[in-house]
Amino acid sequence: MRCPSCNHVEDKVVDSRLTRGGRTIRRRRECLACTKRFTTYEYVEHEPLSVRKTTGAMEPYDRVKLLRSIGTACAKRPVSLAMIEELVDRIEESLEATDKREVSSQSIGELVMQQLRALDQVAYVRFASVYRNFQDTTEFMEEVRELVSKAQYRARGQQELFDPETKSEEG
Ligand SMILES: [Zn+2]
Repeated sequence: MRCPSCNHVEDKVVDSRLTRGGRTIRRRRECLACTKRFTTYEYVEHEPLSVRKTTGAMEPYDRVKLLRSIGTACAKRPVSLAMIEELVDRIEESLEATDKREVSSQSIGELVMQQLRALDQVAYVRFASVYRNFQDTTEFMEEVRELVSKAQYRARGQQELFDPETKSEEG
């Protein structure tokens, strides 16, 4: 690895450790010419994942887009950006575990709903309402009724669930 200070190409590794839950290796290196230290990271390169939309169109998997649509569902909820990042990490791990290079947007949506349901029920209902696009209205309304009766939401709480500002353009 070329030294960022003097461009010399020989170095020695002085420290090596696992980071990000074992998914990357961080190495501290020391230049053999100028003795300056620098850091490199090593990680597994995955084949790019393609997402099949409900229209049949294919598009590359986009982490930022997924973060944004979950973030919209979590607006004003006690869910931090770090929690959303972790949620997406778990989804990506389960997608990588299947070893498929193609996944339907529906499968990703189901994974998000599973995770959100455990994390925040209001965010879950918001995401589900946008994601499912009210196509299975009966099932969806039963789900909402169940959540509403559980939490004993008053009229104000129900209004918050369906705040039109929380809708995204996700389809
Ligand atoms: Zn150097």
